Amino acid sequence: MRTAILGLVMVALSGCAGMENSMASKKPEWTLLIHGGAGVMRRAEMTPENDAAYRAGLNEALDAGSKILASGGSSLDAVEAAVRVLEDNPNFNAGKGAVLTREGVAELDASIMDGRDREAGAVAQVRTVKNPIRAARLVMEATGRVMFAGKDADELAAKGGLEIVPPEYFITLRRLEALRRAMAGNLEPQDRYGTVGAVAMDKAGNLAAATSTGGMNAKPPGRIGDSPIIGAGTYADNASCAVSSTGDGEYFIRASVARMICARVDMKNMSAEQAAQASLDEVKALGGTGGVIVLSHDGSVALSMNTEGMFRGHADATGKRQVGIYADE
Ligand code: ASP
Repeated sequence: MRTAILGLVMVALSGCAGMENSMASKKPEWTLLIHGGAGVMRRAEMTPENDAAYRAGLNEALDAGSKILASGGSSLDAVEAAVRVLEDNPNFNAGKGAVLTREGVAELDASIMDGRDREAGAVAQVRTVKNPIRAARLVMEATGRVMFAGKDADELAAKGGLEIVPPEYFITLRRLEALRRAMAGNLEPQDRYGTVGAVAMDKAGNLAAATSTGGMNAKPPGRIGDSPIIGAGTYADNASCAVSSTGDGEYFIRASVARMICARVDMKNMSAEQAAQASLDEVKALGGTGGVIVLSHDGSVALSMNTEGMFRGHADATGKRQVGIYADE
């Protein structure tokens, strides 16, 4: 009887608003989840043009990653490709169009992790690498280290042959205005944060995760959030799951969100959705908001948030293709 009631409660909980999630009955041959950040415009202020532009950007990122996965490519290549597309799209807070520090510059953070062996790479506070996610991958594959920051990270990327751009490349009018609003104390939800990320499982069953961000609007120079922190913003382990986070980075670091989600999947046998919700509840209890995308080794997925929305997308080998912005869609 008790178990039956518990079962009913679990079913009811799994249908919670804001959770566009599913337990996989059968694992698709490959799966890709992406997010474009949990800081979304209030619905009333979203114009049809903006709505269409965001959805087109998400679909473009899904296209880039799906193409690789469908043709038998690796999850690592797929998450990098999807994130690069979002970094190049000025609508999202990563790469071009990133939010700015109080001093009006873009300081970019990114990380990537390979679920096969838990190799990982990250960069923080880079100012001239066009695609910070490529720099994170370079750190992982070429240095034997996990994280580089600041000027040295920029130099490493340049020496590694990555495309270097002047710091102004990243600055857009929209983010300058958002910075001005923040400095005047009028912070809109979409001005606060963003971040992009992807998690994937390839045909070989390998998981990978990648995250890239400009961080928080009007952050003090030198501030680093969760996105380049392995275990907070990004995590991937074939034995458990792959995670990319977005939200108030300080809280995501303190709650070790990405690692804890995978630990819950691994040690407590939770589904992606249950583990995501448990960690977001922890973040909320600390005072933070945000969202996560989670892909479990068993194929279960979560695109969960405790914000009004999260730009997100889901594609898999069965032909599934979905993008969303608000929590209730
Ligand atoms: N988590 C990012 C940071 O704190 C920001 C975001 O996801 O919106 O830097």
